[in-house]
Amino acid sequence: MTTMPVILLDEQRRIVLSERPVPAPGSGQVLVDVDLCGICGSDLHSPDLPQVYLGGFVLGHEASGVVREVGADVEGWAVGQRVAVNPNGNVCGVCAYCLSGRFNFCHQATMKTALGLQADGALAPVMVAASSTLRALPDAMGRVEAAWVEPTATALRAVLLAGDLAGATVLVSGGGPIGQLVCRIAAHLGAGRVVLVEPTPERRGFAPASRVDVALTPAEAQTRLTHADDPLRADIAIECSGNASATTLALTALRPGGVLVVVGSGVGATLDPLVILLNEITVRGSFTYVDEFEQAIDLLTSKAIRVDDLTTAVVPLSEALAAFESLRAAQTMKILIEPHHSS
Ligand SMILES: [Zn+2]
Ligand SMILES: [Zn+2]
Repeated sequence: MTTMPVILLDEQRRIVLSERPVPAPGSGQVLVDVDLCGICGSDLHSPDLPQVYLGGFVLGHEASGVVREVGADVEGWAVGQRVAVNPNGNVCGVCAYCLSGRFNFCHQATMKTALGLQADGALAPVMVAASSTLRALPDAMGRVEAAWVEPTATALRAVLLAGDLAGATVLVSGGGPIGQLVCRIAAHLGAGRVVLVEPTPERRGFAPASRVDVALTPAEAQTRLTHADDPLRADIAIECSGNASATTLALTALRPGGVLVVVGSGVGATLDPLVILLNEITVRGSFTYVDEFEQAIDLLTSKAIRVDDLTTAVVPLSEALAAFESLRAAQTMKILIEPHHSS
């Protein structure tokens, strides 16, 4: 049996370089040659998130590539076609959520079939994906841009759920890839002012390129934004850091009538109901995407949203474990793995 190298979250919940049999597409599936796959902060934390990531599967949910083989009963896809893969796109199409367009709540898509989350993902030379997960990419789209479709869709949904951005002061907590994308998209969609809160100087250094007007450390933000009359207090706060105290701060930094969108998993954060009540704050979560993939593809193809500068490096699969470690140390922004690059 032919095998291929893969990055696995193994049964002991360790991230390892391993070997797996080369899969074949079943009915309704295609085999995708993975061109690039980004490493995500959630991959890094997958050993500690048993409620989301079961063990014993190939990681990688930010995939772009080319259709290599089409299984039985697949229509509309051809060998050689460039695609991005929506890892949560294997929707059933018939449940109450699917019928109301809330595909991100479809049980079939969010559980065992989620690619790189519970089913085998894209940190491998090839991956099997249901044809419903594929999104066609235009010829004009660059390779690197194609690899950013999934995180851009995540960031776009968070921004769109915040409501009307025109002229608004938007606070973004967390300057990782999602936070930087949220800043860029918010500015693109007409935010009046973008304020980024981020502890590391390296990540604050992306502020000009991310169209950030004011970049603050968490300590500076704590001092300024909790004062009721500080002009930097926000109409909209989008929490992207996954840090509990940053999530609490994002709520208290809002003006009356403000909106807090939570896209980072700040487990253990305290949100004071009295603050929410007295200020009529809207708190809402943003979970994956519904139809944002298509819009993300347009934004990236046109380079309305740039990602080349956020791409720290493109490395072969053999260097993926080292890439995880540099991400853990917050030394990198986004590393893309190129499984067909042999080193
Ligand atoms: Zn991700
Ligand atoms: Zn469904």
